[in-house]
Amino acid sequence: MEVSDRVDGVPPSGIRRFFELAEEMDDLISLGVGEPDFSAPWSARDAAIASLERGETSYTANRGKRELREEIARHQAQNYGLEYDPDDEIIVTTGASEGIDLAMRALVDPGDTVAVAQPTYISYVPGVQFSGGKPLPVPTRAEDEFKLTREVLEDAGAQAADALIYCYPNNPTGATMTGDELAEVAAFCREHDLIVLADEIYAALSYEHEHTSIATLPGMRERTVVFNGFSKAYAMTGLRLGYAMGPPEAIGAMNRVHQYTMLSAPTTAQHAALDALRNCDDDVAEMRTQYDRRRNFVLSRFAEMGIDCFEASGAFYAFPECPTDDSGAFAEDLIHEKKVAVVPGGVFGDGGDGHLRVSYATGLEDLKTALNRIEEFIS
Ligand code: PMP
Repeated sequence: MEVSDRVDGVPPSGIRRFFELAEEMDDLISLGVGEPDFSAPWSARDAAIASLERGETSYTANRGKRELREEIARHQAQNYGLEYDPDDEIIVTTGASEGIDLAMRALVDPGDTVAVAQPTYISYVPGVQFSGGKPLPVPTRAEDEFKLTREVLEDAGAQAADALIYCYPNNPTGATMTGDELAEVAAFCREHDLIVLADEIYAALSYEHEHTSIATLPGMRERTVVFNGFSKAYAMTGLRLGYAMGPPEAIGAMNRVHQYTMLSAPTTAQHAALDALRNCDDDVAEMRTQYDRRRNFVLSRFAEMGIDCFEASGAFYAFPECPTDDSGAFAEDLIHEKKVAVVPGGVFGDGGDGHLRVSYATGLEDLKTALNRIEEFIS
């Protein structure tokens, strides 16, 4: 059967290949996946179980349970100063992934240009392509600590784009941006009338400074859609729950797509999420402490090995320079010879090549062993 040109034109995920190699091996330590090694907090799991025992297995409202949207609004206001109306400015989605896809389909017309800050999460470029838009890579630079600046936006020609998508804290670099730094990006987007799609799924994992959302900066709320979710901070990847927040016309249009495609996000997961927001701040704080400890460990180990490693300040990734020219070959040989999986940076787009993404969402003991193996491998 012939598949559509639109899908045919999008290559398979570059990360998958490494997962497949990794799956075939015993005793392999994976620093490849972007997924917490923790399980969801018990309180959230219990809430999900209790909802099943009560027989709550029906759809919810298209936009998600009202109670959950209220709790999301409270949580976002309290933590990030974002004020959104639970009725028409918040939609609960099947992972942040669905929110991003909805935004592309609801806001991008065929032929529109979407600037994609890179290196970045692998789903944005295909998302733009699936919606008929044209992705415009905006490579950030190691010397700018992988932050977006007016200069890199201008150099890439983003002034002609219709929208900009980015994630900070960043996957794969671990870079974060302060409010002052984001102000420069915000000014650029206002001047050139860009919509901003701000993926803030790692907001709770910012180690050096408080997370700032670009939507809180002057003139930005009306042109920004913010994505967040439960996968990372609450270790709930498999429950598939996220949310998007933005002006009513954007969220309304996204809901129009959602009501025909997804109907509603998973009900059991919505119960877990409601509890997570109400009762799991301490669990999140504890996981953040553990990630931060691992971050410091990984950075210090790379320094000991003499490998240049960018000082990641968020998410759960380190992004060292690859000791050889070909990071793809390095990663593949490392799997075969030392049974450690990392991901070559080129997979994450322009500016990523020559680096490796090393996830520290892995227990400290495994991290120690894996880094010893990397040290043996490079020596
Ligand atoms: N955004 C970023 C930046 C991510 O790293 C990921 C997961 N790797 C997602 C979105 C997807 O999140 P979810 O599980 O909520 O769909």
